[in-house]
Amino acid sequence: MSHIEALNKAFPGAVSSEQYLARVAKLVSPLGFAREHSFAAVSVCRDELTQSFPDLVARRWDQPFSLGGLGALPSLGRTGWRAALSHVPSDHDRGHLIVFGLPHIGIDPEGNIGQSLRRHQDQATPTCGAMAALLSSLRNGFEPQTPGLDDNEADRLRRIVDSQSDQLPDNLLELTRLAATAVNTEMWAELDALQAHKEMDIAVFCGIQIHLPDEVDFISPVSSAFMGSDGIATALSV
Ligand SMILES: [Zn+2]
Repeated sequence: MSHIEALNKAFPGAVSSEQYLARVAKLVSPLGFAREHSFAAVSVCRDELTQSFPDLVARRWDQPFSLGGLGALPSLGRTGWRAALSHVPSDHDRGHLIVFGLPHIGIDPEGNIGQSLRRHQDQATPTCGAMAALLSSLRNGFEPQTPGLDDNEADRLRRIVDSQSDQLPDNLLELTRLAATAVNTEMWAELDALQAHKEMDIAVFCGIQIHLPDEVDFISPVSSAFMGSDGIATALSV
């Protein structure tokens, strides 16, 4: 199977990152999100393959605040969220915050989902590596912690993905879909806890970032919503 066939089969609604961001901008523009007074925050995995997305966001919305840790789970904690929210422009009466959360997955040149052939390597490696490690631990058991060393982000990823479902899926694709839902839940939990809607309008877009061998990434939308001053989240359709 070619990587394009694999993409279409697994992610029928996916569009290129540029198209995705164009759709998002069109969707939030009538809600008052203009470039000059909107503030973007992005949660992508630490993998270098993900970094084209924050670059594209910067072109459209100005430099984004970086939220992400392994698996695109926000890893900045309450202190970090407070810092991010305090940077939102307020020259209008309310701020405008646009948040993206995108766990990622690769498709290699043979159409295998869950791995990428990286530059100057001759064998594909897992994408996302952190999600693949989580899957392997679910199958084979978790390694005991080495005293004195921590693995905070992987531990947290496991805990938060685990809290989404009684029965965790046994394949990387479904586990990644679950992670996108977990990232979305986590975003709203922090924003709600800090009562962000009292100061600003918020739009949160979560999905899966898909890396293809030809370097144009695709996005498959998972969950998108807007919250205004009434504190009620309304689903958006990208
Ligand atoms: Zn990753």
